[in-house]
Amino acid sequence: MKLYNQLTKKVEKFTPQDPNNVKIYTCGPTVYSFAHIGNLTSYIYWDLLVRTLYLHNYKVNRILNLTDVGHLTSDADDGEDKLEKGAKKEGKTVWEIADYYIEAFLKDFHALNLVEPTKICRATDYIKQDIELVDLLTEKGYTYETSDGIYFDTSKFKKYPDFARLDLENLKAGARVNFSSEKHNASDFAVWKFIREGENHAMRWDYLGRPGYPGWHLECATISHTELGLPLDIHTGGIDHIPVHHTNEIAEAEAAYDVKMSNFWTHCNFITIDGEKISKSLGNTFALSDLEEKGYHPLDFKLWVLQGHYQGERNFNFEDLSAAKNRRLHWRNRIAKLYQSPKNDEKNLAFRQVILDTVSNNLNSPIAFSLIDNTTEINLSDWQFIDELFGLNLILSSPDYTTELRDTIVARTAARAEKDFATADQIRDELAKKNITILDTPTGPIWQYLK
Ligand code: AMP
Ligand code: ZN
Repeated sequence: MKLYNQLTKKVEKFTPQDPNNVKIYTCGPTVYSFAHIGNLTSYIYWDLLVRTLYLHNYKVNRILNLTDVGHLTSDADDGEDKLEKGAKKEGKTVWEIADYYIEAFLKDFHALNLVEPTKICRATDYIKQDIELVDLLTEKGYTYETSDGIYFDTSKFKKYPDFARLDLENLKAGARVNFSSEKHNASDFAVWKFIREGENHAMRWDYLGRPGYPGWHLECATISHTELGLPLDIHTGGIDHIPVHHTNEIAEAEAAYDVKMSNFWTHCNFITIDGEKISKSLGNTFALSDLEEKGYHPLDFKLWVLQGHYQGERNFNFEDLSAAKNRRLHWRNRIAKLYQSPKNDEKNLAFRQVILDTVSNNLNSPIAFSLIDNTTEINLSDWQFIDELFGLNLILSSPDYTTELRDTIVARTAARAEKDFATADQIRDELAKKNITILDTPTGPIWQYLK
């Protein structure tokens, strides 16, 4: 297996520390609104990563975190807390907001048939560990206090710019113009924020004798350290995480625990919609439910995502989503046909190997998909393999279901032979309600999915 690694900026051979315990950490969503299709894209690619590892017979131990506290609207430690903002807008408490959107997120997760992480962790369950980490950093001389919080002094962590190839000189020049603060360096970031007199922040914990809350990046350092142990094998996220969130996670975890945080860091690129950034003001923050309302299945969207490579910029539009829907329908009807012509079901091992090799080469799902299109000799058990790898639920029919359908078709043929067209039409209409149509072919009638 080969994967791109942000640490080395190269595609590298992936070997886990322990094949029975491949440790993966995925940065999860901030739960203050419905996930939009851009957010969901990242989890679809990491699902492919996990499924590929399974087919290499690795055991995966994967943690996903839910940011239910302290993520500000800006990466620069100012701006509003996203959850507080959501709560204010919806007239709910921050805790209610978090619970509500966690449930919605998990619903999407299941609708996309994504493999469940080993454990899903809420940031607010790790405040004790966060405080321990801040204490450790302070003991080691990495922090300083300002009037609004405790900051990490990035000049003390020499490799700070390496991960994102940051140009610190440029950052400094920009900061001089843009804002004055008590920060020592433009790239320094809050590990703990104080809640000042009169400040209305509902989520608060006592530390150093005053109320406050953790900086955003802490949770990923403490959760991965607590739940998996460092170094991780793979840490995943979106490209937006590279310059700030992951750079800061590395600084915190490696400075505090004296250990490499992760051997691989893999990021997916962003999708745009009709060439535009996804943003509320453009009204294009489609959620999965919006696509369903327009007649698409969540797995049509999953297939659309996997049609592109995770590192490529993607542009979403409904025309392409319709093409993905048709491709999925076409594949399901190839399977339907196999059910109706039980021939040899010998495994096409060569085909499977090519598909697995292709995906194992830095998750090249688009090429794997064209191989599926261009190979006629794919048997039922090979489709099962395709389903295991991509999680597209292509095989929906069970043997019982197909026997029942065959009997229905026999009944329809018999009705037609007796010129009982009313019965034949009624059978056709009943099937249409189940999204099934009957095609009369030279070798007899066969059923197909309509959508
Ligand atoms: P957030 O809830 O903002 O932390 O985002 C959750 C995940 O979605 C992160 O991994 C982001 O990198 C990712 N993400 C956000 N917007 C997009 C987008 N337009 N395309 C792809 N991924 C995105
Ligand atoms: Zn993270």
